[in-house]
Amino acid sequence: MPAAWLDKAKILVKAGDGGNGAVAFHREKYVAAGGPDGGDGGRGGDIVVVVDDHMTTLMDFRYKRKYTAGNGMDGTGKRCSGKDGATLTIKVPRGTVIRDAESGEVIRDMAQDEPFVLCRGGNGGWGNHHFATPTRQAPRFAKAGLPGQSMEVILELKLLADVGLVGFPNVGKSTLLSVVTRAQPKIANYHFTTLSPNLGVVARGEGSSFVLADIPGIIEGAAQGAGLGHDFLRHIDRCRVLIHVVDVSGSEGRDPVEDFKAITAELAQWSPDLPSRPTVVAGNKADIAQDRAGLEALKAHVEALGLPFFEISAAAHQGVEPLMDCVWETLSQLPPPKPFEATYVPKPPTVDTSEPLEITRADDGTWLVEGPWLQRLMANVNFGDFESRSWFDRMLRQSGLFDRLEEMGIQDGDTVSLYNLEFDYQR
Ligand code: GDP
Ligand code: MG
Repeated sequence: MPAAWLDKAKILVKAGDGGNGAVAFHREKYVAAGGPDGGDGGRGGDIVVVVDDHMTTLMDFRYKRKYTAGNGMDGTGKRCSGKDGATLTIKVPRGTVIRDAESGEVIRDMAQDEPFVLCRGGNGGWGNHHFATPTRQAPRFAKAGLPGQSMEVILELKLLADVGLVGFPNVGKSTLLSVVTRAQPKIANYHFTTLSPNLGVVARGEGSSFVLADIPGIIEGAAQGAGLGHDFLRHIDRCRVLIHVVDVSGSEGRDPVEDFKAITAELAQWSPDLPSRPTVVAGNKADIAQDRAGLEALKAHVEALGLPFFEISAAAHQGVEPLMDCVWETLSQLPPPKPFEATYVPKPPTVDTSEPLEITRADDGTWLVEGPWLQRLMANVNFGDFESRSWFDRMLRQSGLFDRLEEMGIQDGDTVSLYNLEFDYQR
């Protein structure tokens, strides 16, 4: 992979942790005993991903792999809440697909402009003023903040081009792109000239245009990972129409029909639906064809497959307009491109519930329960959702927490306090 181009990166993201709640009591001259006034911890910052249209590669992610949002500050006295942690915004090029590194599932396709919250910051812990009740006027406890979510993700750039140029190296793809758009790709008479995909806009009359991408030379075996092609094949995934460019000049001693078949097989290997993608075939370098045999054979072959065929010379600007007209025509009949659907379902963290929890009793009899796994679990439970709540309940039961509380003498109606959750115990 050349250093100047990177279209896949694995990064670690971590949202900020919530700050801790404070234990404090109101103090004022002439006021004998003030009430609890410990403030809450601040919320941890989120990790947010946004599209930046000035970016064209994932280069920035090559050297910086870890992204952490700010932690919430701890609460203080006088009901002062801690400051929330700063959000961390990660900019990516349009068309970046975010996947869960572990499962490979799609979390989000960054095709649109809305910012996406990838990881939520942890909630701040409650200060002791939250825990004051008529029977518990001086709670001497507050809660720790919850950790921010963290995960490893893969960023993968899949260009948002309508049309992709495919074909063997050196057949004239870059030349064609330079002729029909303002893009200025490198053109040279050797294989593998193109080391990064180039994009250009093809204008078709008033206000109509489409994006054409030069997909770097596919070579045989690319789908198995041989050579450069493999890394770039993913860019074809989104193209709604393909222009298959074939060298029909015979100048390199190649057989156009064989070349066409080889590339088609390569595409099928990469993705089974690619051969059925609308394709227009361009027989290029017609200007230097020694004889027309190869050209005619290819034309017959592809037309038998029902594909439109155009004889062109990209370098001589011949036959290029009718080809682009046909591509535009084909494209305008297709539905708009669909973004990749998210398949990722957030999984609760795997926790070892056999790790004993710490149970203490506050002055007023509240049962305070804490422990690392409980903290991690609570950071990931959506208490607004019935399913999640019952699952959480099962985890608590499974951990033996209630049995232990029973052994310690808990009574019906006693208050149990787990971080930001309090409930009355009911057998
Ligand atoms: P790519 O690897 O498919 O992108 O091929 P390029 O566009 O870099 O072209 C490879 C070589 O073929 C260059 O030397 C071009 O000048 C030449 N070439 C491209 N199109 C034509 C054409 O229509 N006629 C002739 N004679 N040469 C061409
Ligand atoms: Mg090229």
